[in-house]
Amino acid sequence: MLIDVHVHLFPPDVVGRIKEYLEKDEFLGQICSSPLHKYASAEDLLEEMDKCGLDRAAISGFASSDQGLCREMNDYVLEAARSSPQRFMAMAVVSPLDPGMEKEISRCHELGAVGVGELFPWGQKFALEGREAGELASVCEERNLPLLLHINEIVGHYYTGKGDVSIREAADFAAKYPELTIIYAHWGGGLLFYELMPEIKNQLQKVYYDTAAGPFLYHKNIYRVAREIGILHKILLGTDYPLLSPRRYFRELQEADLTPREIEMIKGENAARLFYKHTSGF
Ligand SMILES: [Zn+2]
Repeated sequence: MLIDVHVHLFPPDVVGRIKEYLEKDEFLGQICSSPLHKYASAEDLLEEMDKCGLDRAAISGFASSDQGLCREMNDYVLEAARSSPQRFMAMAVVSPLDPGMEKEISRCHELGAVGVGELFPWGQKFALEGREAGELASVCEERNLPLLLHINEIVGHYYTGKGDVSIREAADFAAKYPELTIIYAHWGGGLLFYELMPEIKNQLQKVYYDTAAGPFLYHKNIYRVAREIGILHKILLGTDYPLLSPRRYFRELQEADLTPREIEMIKGENAARLFYKHTSGF
């Protein structure tokens, strides 16, 4: 089973009125004005999944500081998951600074969401050590919803959407909420390398890493490095589609000198275990 845990869909209605939102939300404005930015609908994604042989995708809208926009995004992905329950799993986006955060997560969960994210601590201006992030962690933990968080490396070249939330904050957040399942996007900004430290490995037991945007960031040897660190079972295929096609990742995986079994783990088996309730009988 091939599963992508990191894709972004934009409701066509929102795309039609996008200018309205770009003015309201500075971060969204930056992301959408990047020359690399593309909009994809549920139909676009299904077509791409069929072409690439992907079975399932955990679909997110785009998390904004505007809770109304988050809700519109959520309605769209929830509806897409309802229409294609064998292909899509809905993820809820929320603004942790909004007082309606918990209510929106509950609403989405009741309507079938299987996780929360991708949220952007830097872009949505919430601190991982702050009260709001603590509330977010508690709500996700209580409902057993994995939380997909954007963390990027703080060294190297600049690109749109690159923030300054560090792996230290990410490591502390995971240590503070050991029962919470976290997926740190973009290889966790490099946090995975510190799993070579026994105490960090111990604190990050419920942390997974996705590969989103990896081909722009790391040499493909990163897959074998993850194997050496002993965390291949925590690596999840995330494409950041429509930024990149799944094909790009498949190619790298083939060239990364892994065994077919290890490739299967990354391409979907690890994610199936994480989302087992939603992928059973498949
Ligand atoms: Zn991201």
